[in-house]
Formats: sequence, C-alpha cells, structure tokens
Amino acid sequence: MRHLIVLLGDQLDLDSAAFDGFDPAVDAVWMAEVPAEATYAWSHKARLVIFLSAMRHFAETLRARGWTVQYRATGAHPHADLAGALAADLTQFKPQGVIAVEPGEWRLWHALRDTCAAAGVAYTQREDRHFLCPLPMFAAWMDGRKQPRMEHFYRRMRQHTGWLMRGTEPEGGQWNFDHDNRDSFGRDGPRPVPAPLRFPPDALTREVMAVVEHHYGDHPGGLAAFDWPVTRDEALEALDDFVTTRLPQFGQYQDAMWTGQPWLYHARLSAALNLKLLNPREVCEAALRAWRDGEAPLAAVEGFVRQILGWREYVRGLYFHRMPGYLDDNALGADQPLPALYWTGDTAMRCLSETVGDTLEHGYAHHIQRLMVTGLFALLLGVRPRAVHQWYLAVYVDAVEWVELPNTLGMSQFADGGVMASKPYVASGKYIQRMSNYCQGCRFDPALRTGPRACPFTTLYWDFLDRHRERFAGHPRLKMQIRNLDRLDEPALSALRAQAASLREDLP
Ligand code: FAD
Ligand code: SF4
Repeated sequence: MRHLIVLLGDQLDLDSAAFDGFDPAVDAVWMAEVPAEATYAWSHKARLVIFLSAMRHFAETLRARGWTVQYRATGAHPHADLAGALAADLTQFKPQGVIAVEPGEWRLWHALRDTCAAAGVAYTQREDRHFLCPLPMFAAWMDGRKQPRMEHFYRRMRQHTGWLMRGTEPEGGQWNFDHDNRDSFGRDGPRPVPAPLRFPPDALTREVMAVVEHHYGDHPGGLAAFDWPVTRDEALEALDDFVTTRLPQFGQYQDAMWTGQPWLYHARLSAALNLKLLNPREVCEAALRAWRDGEAPLAAVEGFVRQILGWREYVRGLYFHRMPGYLDDNALGADQPLPALYWTGDTAMRCLSETVGDTLEHGYAHHIQRLMVTGLFALLLGVRPRAVHQWYLAVYVDAVEWVELPNTLGMSQFADGGVMASKPYVASGKYIQRMSNYCQGCRFDPALRTGPRACPFTTLYWDFLDRHRERFAGHPRLKMQIRNLDRLDEPALSALRAQAASLREDLP
C-alpha cells in the first residue's frame, strides 16, 4: 500500500485535498467508528446516527467508484479510540504514508500525528479547503489585532470573495442589515411557515439507528423524529428547499422563537455543512443567485451570507488561534455544575423546557434558543464553562468542536473575557418575553425580580450584574445596566441575593 487516506466523520467531501493524487491501484481510504468519539461528549443519539449514517453512505459512494475503503464499524473491532484503531491497521497494512486533512478538533491533530510517528509512518496533513478562509490567512488577519471583531473580519471576507460588493462598496450601501433582523411574531404568532423537506431514514440509516440503540442506548435524546439529510444528494435537496421556501424571510425573524416551531425560517443546513456534505461556497452562491433573480431580498441574503462567510469562518479561525488553552478559559470564574434539567427538559421554566425539549427531540435548537435561553441561563447561573461546552458538544447534530467551542465559551459564556463577543449576552426574562411566546402560560412573571412568581432569568440577571458589578461598571455597553442596579436599595439587594441563592440550591 502506498497511501492510507484517513477520513474522519466530518470530512465527507469528494473534493477534499485528502484525495488529491489518489490512485485506487495503490491507495486506500480508512474510516473508523470508535466508542471514544461517541462518549467523550455524551452524544445525543441523533448526533451519533447522523455522523455514522453519513459516514457509511459516503463509504458506499467511494466503493462504487472502485476505491478500497477499510471501514472499521461499531462492534466489529476491539479498539476504544481512533489512535488505537489506526495503530493496529498501520501495523497490518504498513502503508508508505498516511494522508489526512486538518481535523476539526485540536486533539485529533495530535492523535493522528503521534500515532503515525509511533508506528514510524510518514504523516502528511493537508489544508481543509472546504473553508473560505485558510488558517494562515486568518492568522495574518489576526496579526497585531488587540481586539478582533467579527464585523471587521466579515468585511474583509466580503472584499476577498467579491460577494455582495459593487466595486469596493457593499451592495445596498450597507455592510450589515442586522437592524432589519430583530422582528418578533407579535401575539398572533408566525404565519404558516413552509415545513422543511424531511429525509426519512433509509435502510442504511435504520441499520445505524439499531447499532446506536444497542451500543449507546443510555445516551440522551430520541430518534423517532430523525429526518436529517445524510448524503450529498439529500443535502443539495435541503439547500434548494431552504433557498426557495424560507430564505426570503430568513433575516427578518432570525431572533424570534415560538412554541412547537423549532425551525421557523432557519436553514437546517449546519449539520450538512459541518459534515462537509455541502460546501459553503455553493451554499452562499445559491443564496446570492436567489437575490440576483429577485427571489429573496438583499437584507435576508446578506444576513444569511454573514452567518456563513462571517460567523462560521470567524469561529473556526478563532478556535485554532486560541487552542489548546481555549478549553480552560473561565474569565468570570463560574463554578456551578450544569443543572440536570439540561438533560431532561424537566423544569417549570417554559422557555427552558421548550428549548431543551426541541434539543432532545431533534438534536437541534436554533441560534437564539442556544444563545438566549440555554446559554443565557447557564451564564446567569454561573455554570462552569467546560460543563456548558460538554453539553453543547453532546446534544446538537451539528456539533464539532471548532464551531461549538467558540460559540459556547466565547459568545455565550463570555469565558474568553471578550475575545469573541464584546460584552456578555445578558438579559432578563423580558428579552425572552419580547422574542417568543414562551412566557405565556409560564408560572413565572418576567417582570418580577423577587417573590414566588419571580422569573428565574430576571432574578439571576440582576444577581449577575451584582456579582460582576466591579468588572463591568466601566464597560461602555453594560454601564447603563449597572447604573440601574445601583438604584436598588440594601433591602432590595438582600432579597435579590437571597432569591438567587435559593435558586442555586433548588431550581424550579
Ligand atoms: P441558520 O440560523 O439558518 O444559519 C445558517 C448557517 O449559518 C448555519 O447553518 C451555520 O452554518 C451558519 N451559522 C449561523 N450562526 C453561526 C455561528 N454563530 N457560528 C458558526 N456558524 C453559524 N453551530 C454549529 O454549526 N455547530 C455547533 O456546535 C454550534 N454550537 C453553538 C453553541 C452555542 C452556544 C451557540 C450560541 C451557537 C452555536 N452554533 C453552532 C451556531 C448556530 O446556533 C448554529 O449554526 C445554527 O443554529 C444551525 O442551525 P441552521 O442551520 O438552521 O442555521
Ligand atoms: Fe422563561 Fe421567565 Fe418567560 Fe418563564 S417567565 S418562560 S422562566 S423567561
């Protein structure tokens, strides 16, 4: 054997640099399902099924091309982790070299390199050209910047790609239409939203479901609703469905939430993108085409392109820039355990029971549910960032560390002290009341800070300001909120502190 091409579960891309120069006569592809990848974060069953099913479908595609795929399936080998499984096969096949593209998790960069070194086999790691901003380009952009900001990076990427540009100026005279993207649905709720295209499990996916139930039956979440795209053809259909039915309203209601409506106008494309079944270029170009053809407004298309060309590329750059230390960041010194309700949804707080419920049912919640419900509550409560990270990595079908960690530690928990977000995303229950219908029918009142009907978000919001008063008193975007806290007299502050302490003892 000449080259063994190591392919990880989130590298399912026929155009991958791993295949450059591939010669089926002398090269082979190596893929493995190992328990460690399913259990180091206690993965949702849907996350396991989407990864394993997409991997098995991809292996079939490669075999149909006449390529050799050495596939180590769950239960068919004795190895606990990737390093062990690879080491055994390097001994058996004795390839001249191993080739892989940049893994999406820092720990695997080392695991693959060290395993090959121990076996005395040359290891080549190639660029992951799925991304629009190669890591050296991001490093050059970061160089000398004290305070990196996504907006600056995004403008640089707009210029780099020429997308939504008129010469050197942004299309429509604005870089960003975010202020058009904050609508809630009002009391009557959303108009009927076109249901996203579903992909009922085929025979191979059903086989994988049985494997997951057998080996990982005690893992969180259910499979009854599983309908995610697991092949490139399905992912392309999902993209087309989003662009034609939901993209035109994407931006306007991006921050809105509604009971029983997990998808609203969201794309549902993150998992297909992160598995590399879809390429970010083709996804953005499909949206740009819809705008040019007059089928989607500029504000919606700009908002969507910003998520992918801006946020998605930015968080990847930051992740590799800040690893390995990023995992240990805890700028606010948060030390509480993650409440059990994150795994069960069992709580009287309706916003949390809805969001965790969607998460357990589908392996999905949309961005504002992740940021301003589950993320916000953990931040206000003061949960250890590492525990929050482990939860987000476990429960979403799109979770891979390069994208999950900066969003969780940086954007949602402010654990990096302001690298990813310029201020902590803190708000009281009134934000949730404004952006959703969750508070209707909840036994708490988002306007109340203390007392039996006080909304826990509101109590903990004021408590957060109180606990971090010194740190944020001079912060340009938080000092107004701290000034409001200063208006509370001593009895009000004592009552607030007592209520927050009792919440930490016993959550509703
Ligand atoms: P849409 O809302 O329709 O957005 C379109 C696309 O833009 C997404 O498919 C995604 O590829 C990209 N995108 C949007 N926001 C972000 C962002 N902040 N960072 C990176 N890409 C973005 N996204 C993941 O892909 N994997 C994760 O593990 C993940 N963890 C998150 C954890 C927290 C605490 C938060 C606040 C956000 C997280 N996100 C993560 C970002 C975002 O919530 C999801 O990408 C989005 O909800 C996926 O659903 P969608 O495809 O319907 O996206
Ligand atoms: Fe959530 Fe508070 Fe609203 Fe209840 S009242 S749904 S706990 S924000």
